[in-house]
Amino acid sequence: MQNEFNWETAEAKSVAKNKGDIFLFGMNEEVHTFRLVSNPVSIEIHWEKDRARKNKRIICPATGCQICKSGHGAKTMYRCYVIERGQEDPVIQILEMTTNLFNKIITIAKKMGNPINYDMKIKRHIVNQSYTEYLACPAKNSQSLTDKEKKVAEIAKTKANDMSKPNTPEEILAMDLLCLPLSVDEQFDDFQVMANKGIEDDDWNNFN
Ligand SMILES: [Zn+2]
Repeated sequence: MQNEFNWETAEAKSVAKNKGDIFLFGMNEEVHTFRLVSNPVSIEIHWEKDRARKNKRIICPATGCQICKSGHGAKTMYRCYVIERGQEDPVIQILEMTTNLFNKIITIAKKMGNPINYDMKIKRHIVNQSYTEYLACPAKNSQSLTDKEKKVAEIAKTKANDMSKPNTPEEILAMDLLCLPLSVDEQFDDFQVMANKGIEDDDWNNFN
């Protein structure tokens, strides 16, 4: 896969604006302890609203992407598979990372080696309405994966491509996004509704 990296050899990505990152090793009750069980991949994400004003998250297919064509940009994010530690029934989950968090994990990986071999503590910290900060640090005492967790981690190996699977142009069309024009058929439907309404209301009679 072209967009897959290796934690230890990946280069930190440039962040457009440094909003005062804090690299904290302190922990509190909101800290999640993860084991990263795959290499990271990069994806391009669009956040758009549909005509019902619901938020939609779309993985940009790049080629033939109607959203890009409409002039709306996508944001680069990174993903990897994780297992949250200490769960009775561990499940495989995708951790979606901002460039900011991705860079922090790379920094840790360069010092400590591949994070597949130790736990990572990650905390989401909402700084204000428009900015969320992620804090990451390696766990001091990583417990080895349990047999259950090892089994779950195996799933990640067979599903590497699922993390970055882009939405197809057909799927995007079906989302009824505000940023995309209505199809000719849909416009015709709207016209028919208007026409029918006119007849039902006997509007034509009012012209006399
Ligand atoms: Zn796009």
